[in-house]
Amino acid sequence: MVLALDGGTPVRRHDFPAWPYHDDAEREALVRAVDQGQWWRVGGSEVTSFEAEFGAYHGGTTLAVTNGTHALELGLELLGLEPGDEVIVPAFTFISTSIAVQRAGGVPVPVDVDPDTYCLDPAALEAARTERTRVVIPVHMAGHIADMDAIGAWADRHGVVVFQDAAHAHGAVRSGRRVGDFGTLAAFSFQNGKLMTAGEGGALLLPSADRFDEAFARHSCGRPIGDTHYEHRSPSSNYRMTEFAGAVLRVQLGRLAEQNERRESRWKTLSAALREIPGVVPQGRDPHCDLNPHYMAMAALDPEVHADVDRDHLVRALVAEGIPAFVNYPPVYRTEAHAALIGNGLPGVDELAERNPVSEHLGARGFWLHHRVLLGTDADCADVAEALAKVLSAAAGKKRPA
Ligand SMILES: *Cc1c(COP(=O)(O)O)cnc(C)c1O
Repeated sequence: MVLALDGGTPVRRHDFPAWPYHDDAEREALVRAVDQGQWWRVGGSEVTSFEAEFGAYHGGTTLAVTNGTHALELGLELLGLEPGDEVIVPAFTFISTSIAVQRAGGVPVPVDVDPDTYCLDPAALEAARTERTRVVIPVHMAGHIADMDAIGAWADRHGVVVFQDAAHAHGAVRSGRRVGDFGTLAAFSFQNGKLMTAGEGGALLLPSADRFDEAFARHSCGRPIGDTHYEHRSPSSNYRMTEFAGAVLRVQLGRLAEQNERRESRWKTLSAALREIPGVVPQGRDPHCDLNPHYMAMAALDPEVHADVDRDHLVRALVAEGIPAFVNYPPVYRTEAHAALIGNGLPGVDELAERNPVSEHLGARGFWLHHRVLLGTDADCADVAEALAKVLSAAAGKKRPA
């Protein structure tokens, strides 16, 4: 079988379901927002309604913001992070988890993830703790809620605050608990690819309404709710969501439960099919995970089986076969964004690589598929597995001496 990359016929001749999904409901919501005449949240009601609906769904009080990166920055401001404070982040995550700490004046400390769930490894936390450790930010990787019991117990023991990065975890449930039920701040993203979206957008979920007024002021140049006299209580930035985004997100939230259910069902099919392919290891799931909304369908190559397969080539070949595949995030410390944190008494890349073998493996051998492949049919999932098997067998064929 000739690879599509080499001029062969692609496995997929038609596309997977489109993302973002929309229909007349988004059009109507946008018109409704436009016709309010006031397009910022202070003059309209869409963002406020969205906050009530999103908070009720996730078990907490919601403040909508401009994007997920800002939700993390605002949360750290609310936690009173001070210059030089250390914040533990997973070494394997999208860079915002770590960049937000830098922008808030803190020092992100990368810690390795669990090889099965790809979430922060509670057993690795203690080695990273110093007297400056203030916050730990578990990321619910691809929708799988991190081991909040173990992380929370460790944090309580040492006076460290937990702040969830839930940018992948809209509607996720662990041990019967939603993101808002863990009693910590959580940051969400509504960027174009995420599980519900307005193109851009984010939310800070507060465990209760206690600090909502303060959070509101801090997302609005320090101005309290209803301020008309330029009362700036803190030197904070402007992270206000537009009414257009709020209106669209109300509709998107309305579809979340059904789409999460569909992705869970398709992932059962797809992960089983992936496991049939030698040397392909899909992201695992611990028994406490009740609902994983599957922001990404993730897998990695077993280096013992596929030592000679170039992961970047594999992803290019999958894309040519019509599969929406992407390379995994690199470990955060391998980005230029992190370079300022190397040296001056802080560990270098080689030392960090040694401490974070799982993140190294996932960054180099891992790949993911956009969740829209899970919004289709079981036959769509079979096509994904067929394309992957085709690309890997072509790679194995190349290895054989002529
Ligand atoms: C998308 C994402 C963010 C940032 O969200 P934006 O809305 O893109 O700023 C933060 N953390 C993780 C893990 C993400 O995937």
